[in-house]
Amino acid sequence: MADNNRVDQKRRLGTSAVKAILLTLPILLLTGLMVTGGQPIPKEAIRLIPLAVTYLFINSIFFLLIYSGRISRYRTILFVTYAACFILTFTTNLIETRGSMILTQENMVKGETPFCPMVIPMVIIPAALTKTIIFPGSMASIGSILVAWLGVTIALGRGWCSWGCFFGGMDEGFSKIARQPVIRNINRKWTYLSFAVLLVIVLTSAATLSPTYCEWLCPFKAVTEFEEITSAKVVVQTVIFFSLFTGLVVVMPILTKRRTQCGLFCPMGAFQSLTNKLNVFDVRVDTNKCTQCNLCVKSCPVFALDEESVRKGRARVTCSKCGKCIEVCPRGAISFHIKGTDVGGNGRTAQLMFIYPAFLLLAIMGSGMISGAIYRVLLLITTGSILK
Ligand code: SF4
Ligand code: SF4
Repeated sequence: MADNNRVDQKRRLGTSAVKAILLTLPILLLTGLMVTGGQPIPKEAIRLIPLAVTYLFINSIFFLLIYSGRISRYRTILFVTYAACFILTFTTNLIETRGSMILTQENMVKGETPFCPMVIPMVIIPAALTKTIIFPGSMASIGSILVAWLGVTIALGRGWCSWGCFFGGMDEGFSKIARQPVIRNINRKWTYLSFAVLLVIVLTSAATLSPTYCEWLCPFKAVTEFEEITSAKVVVQTVIFFSLFTGLVVVMPILTKRRTQCGLFCPMGAFQSLTNKLNVFDVRVDTNKCTQCNLCVKSCPVFALDEESVRKGRARVTCSKCGKCIEVCPRGAISFHIKGTDVGGNGRTAQLMFIYPAFLLLAIMGSGMISGAIYRVLLLITTGSILK
């Protein structure tokens, strides 16, 4: 029975090996340029091996994704690997350039804080009101992230959360640990919490002219950088960061098998949900094929489907375009869709048109982190130190 399902799924979503190879060729070319950064191929093994392994890994994932049609499975492997490698590469680079993971007042004054996309919703109003960016980072890093974010948002909307965000990969990684969820039902009303967090941090950041989410609520401070402990206030902030990381990124995803930080709390996720309205792609249900079995509802990691949305034939605005529901639907009723076209009629074309930019985003974001992490491991093996 399981084998029959696999064969059906392959026939429904996948393609032949030859066609999959042909469809992989553009990615082979583009990731070749991306992994080397347009520079000559390095000769030292310690630099060459990470690039070669990353290149082979990314392209094998793309081929398997196209060949099998299992978008979510292969996206998850690359997405979670990228997030894990991000922690190693980011922290070791930080320690090399700044001396430690601790952010001092001096670092902030000098603008040595790497700009994080999570800050974007908080900087818009203060930038409009005061013509300044309320973040202690360099203008070069802020400008490049803003431009990249704008491009991704226009192309993918909240697809950012399943194909680009290094933090989303951590949440997703922990959600894959348990075989079965311990907590099965979460009231959909909790998804409004992330919009409330968004509203609060936008207003408080505008009122205080400081990025309040970064200062008080970011769970990922626990694994990236945190402020030097110089006062009771910083102690409280640090306790909050670690508690939120443990609760929302580790424990709840394990217990629910869902991305609870992304789906219930993250203000950037809520912000990107609003941009889903501007975006050309969405995920639609062909109600003529659907039998209302609700398998898709149970499997959506960010709570973007419920009985009502399935009946209406469209994912909710919080859909992160991960592809999971498309993969689990036994009727082949769900597909990526280009707005303004017939539902179900052009599923494969829409899927390909979505996957190329989405996968390129993941490859761009992930390749440097993955090759960087392999480099650090090789450095440790060959020199006994993870730092240069
Ligand atoms: S998994 Fe497919 S058939 Fe079942 S409710 Fe969802 S769309 Fe309908
Ligand atoms: S509705 Fe489907 S594609 Fe959208 S987030 Fe949920 S499982 Fe992923």
